[in-house]
Amino acid sequence: MVADTVPDDVKHLRDQLNDWSYRYYVLDDPAVPDAEYDRLFRQLQALERAHPELVTPDSPTQRVGDAPLDGFDEVRHEVPMLSLGNAFDDDELSAFDRRIRERLGSEQAVVYVAEPKLDGLAVSLVYQNGHLVRGATRGDGQRGEDITANVRTIRSVPLTLRGTGLPALIEIRGEVVMTHAGFDALNRSQQEKGLKPFANPRNAAAGSLRQLDSAVTAQRPLEFFAYSVARLEGEDWQESQWQQLQRVRELGVRVSPEVSTCTGVDDLLAYHASILKRRDELPYDIDGVVYKVNDLHAQELLGFVSRAPRWAIAHKFPAQEEITRLLDVEWQVGRTGAITPVARLEPVQVGGVTVSNATLHNFDEIQRLDLRIGDSVVIYRAGDVIPKVVSVIAERRPEKAAPISMPGACPVCGSEIFRAEGEAVARCTGGLICAAQQKEAIKHFASRRAMDIDGLGDKIVDALVDAGLVADVADLYALAEADVAGLERMGEKSAANLVAAIRTSGENLALERFLFALGIREVGEATALALANHFGALDKVMSADEDALVAVSDVGPVVASHIRHFFAEPHNQAVIAKLRKAGVEPLEREPLEVASLPLADQTWVLTGTLTRFTRDQAKAVLQSLGAKVAGSVSRKTSCVVAGESAGSKLDKAKELDVVVLDEQEFLQKMDALGARVDGADA
Ligand code: NAD
Repeated sequence: MVADTVPDDVKHLRDQLNDWSYRYYVLDDPAVPDAEYDRLFRQLQALERAHPELVTPDSPTQRVGDAPLDGFDEVRHEVPMLSLGNAFDDDELSAFDRRIRERLGSEQAVVYVAEPKLDGLAVSLVYQNGHLVRGATRGDGQRGEDITANVRTIRSVPLTLRGTGLPALIEIRGEVVMTHAGFDALNRSQQEKGLKPFANPRNAAAGSLRQLDSAVTAQRPLEFFAYSVARLEGEDWQESQWQQLQRVRELGVRVSPEVSTCTGVDDLLAYHASILKRRDELPYDIDGVVYKVNDLHAQELLGFVSRAPRWAIAHKFPAQEEITRLLDVEWQVGRTGAITPVARLEPVQVGGVTVSNATLHNFDEIQRLDLRIGDSVVIYRAGDVIPKVVSVIAERRPEKAAPISMPGACPVCGSEIFRAEGEAVARCTGGLICAAQQKEAIKHFASRRAMDIDGLGDKIVDALVDAGLVADVADLYALAEADVAGLERMGEKSAANLVAAIRTSGENLALERFLFALGIREVGEATALALANHFGALDKVMSADEDALVAVSDVGPVVASHIRHFFAEPHNQAVIAKLRKAGVEPLEREPLEVASLPLADQTWVLTGTLTRFTRDQAKAVLQSLGAKVAGSVSRKTSCVVAGESAGSKLDKAKELDVVVLDEQEFLQKMDALGARVDGADA
């Protein structure tokens, strides 16, 4: 009974593979990963072997590639361009080697040429008397596309061959590939232009080479590597594949630098292992290695089967792209509050390891992929890079596939999630309490430019949080000496010092320091100072709406929205209330109209080694006078203070005719404005 379904199964597989081939070869837009295609291909091969009467001429096992595209002139290949047989494991390779020895009637180990199997597309180049006269794709093996104008734009394809005594005619075959760097750059530019990104470098190379306008091809980063000679006139054939490749090199055509000779199966396996190990270092994709019988006479004796030579085989590597199912999307919270979606997958082998999670970057990516829970997805993994979801196989979407939405609140602390306009990343606004962010938040709070708590370094923060003594910054002020002394490598003396340092950090506290210490997104020291100057009191900053915030110099709509979301979050309000209760109360002052300050609208730059005061002290006095302090000199710079051995910034200031002051002149100028520089001796 089972046998009755075989003809239907064969037809189904044939139709499915032919459809996928069309998408792959003709449209350069594969529907499924190669590994999936290869699995079905092998099923079809097995069925056809058992039922040879079911083999049809249009079976993908009997033919190569697909028909050429209409827009190109057709080229007839005098010597057909074939495919390659595959070995997926060591046994299949041994069987191949055994068949060769049997057919050649030789007991001796066979010598092979081994080389990487570049994952691009096959191209034929014809040179007449040293001049490139034709470039063609493989097409269906008999008929390819004339892409002469396009190959001429590839820099590694010489337009004329090198040397003297050139053959009257030589047809060189090889692979056109796109490097990883070129592929990434191309996809970035596709995305910027709102165009669909290419699935992988192979498809990008094929799509780029088969452009009707060669000006487009010229802009694409393509490379050519030769691997064989198909026709030769006006000079004698070499004896071996190896010599032939040397001759091609001599003519100025690039051959892979990884080419090597190997004798017997063990040698081939060692070559396979060594290239596989270096796979991720190579600048382009390879999907295996190819072995060819070195002796050209032996090649001739061995001949061909329907779609591939008997004297060569591709020894495949583990696939870097695989299909699996998306089980769920989890939202992770990073140290800085970034909310990142992570795909939970049905475990699948990709590139030699089991993958069950993949990154999805951000919510936009989920929308771009049109991803739903339950979808069949294509996963790509190369080297140590985190696996990623490349695409969804829309045809396989189950009926109940569930759409994915952003969580309403932080999955760790329940605070509001906020995504500023124009930003790809959404963030948790509960910076002060979120467990995912607590260590970072406390380290920032304690840092020198923030609350400046002496002795509260990163390791101690880690230890305090890990010991459960501190969960937010307000807890610091409740620490007792005994708690701290119990920590590893903490003596009683240092514990007492730390507790004292924490306590004093809350005394005489400048509002700008406190605002900066809260770690509000995009509120650096300069913005904190501008807020403090403008509002004068913490409560006023906390209750300001976005309009009021945007009125502050230095604060744009995005920063304003970050500030408002931060103070609107009840969790943050609670921590601030707890801080105040513990005596951490920033000083109030008269609001200051920055525009009325003597250095308003000025930008100053400090450079060189300052000896009479620190950079921070100079910066503080400048900011108190309304100036901005920048890190680099430009046309907008009002003045440069240059200490000893000032370098390029001083040169730039001179070049742009910017006023330059030395330390003494700076002090005099500050004095004239009635300001004192802390630390400066009189
Ligand atoms: P192949 O990749 O299996 O092998 C032959 C090709 O290898 C040659 O034409 C040549 O282009 C290339 N090659 C690279 N380095 C070489 C070297 N050093 N020497 C000789 N040849 C070298 O080729 P194929 O017959 O075009 O196609 C089968 C492959 O294409 C399979 O991997 C299959 O998965 C993939 N495919 C995928 C889909 C899909 O839907 N994803 C559809 C069709 C085919």
